[in-house]
Amino acid sequence: MVAELSVLTEWIPEQMEPGTVFVLENAGEVGENEDPYWAVLACPSCGTLGLITRRQVAGLIPVLCGSSQCSAHFVLRDESVLPRKPN
Ligand SMILES: [Zn+2]
Repeated sequence: MVAELSVLTEWIPEQMEPGTVFVLENAGEVGENEDPYWAVLACPSCGTLGLITRRQVAGLIPVLCGSSQCSAHFVLRDESVLPRKPN
């Protein structure tokens, strides 16, 4: 798992390597009002793309990889990826 996030300012799918985050152009407008989708994150472990919410970007709730072949579980803190141990 990579330990640092890299932020893309332009949507370039080929550059969505593991640990890359791209803030949505309509961040905050889709998903739940309380915790809308905010960014696309390439899983720091396997690179699977997934939507993450504002609270996940802020590190308030952990992110679980959406791939069934990957059990990455981590918290974002500033631009770092902090792995979470399974409870
Ligand atoms: Zn993954």
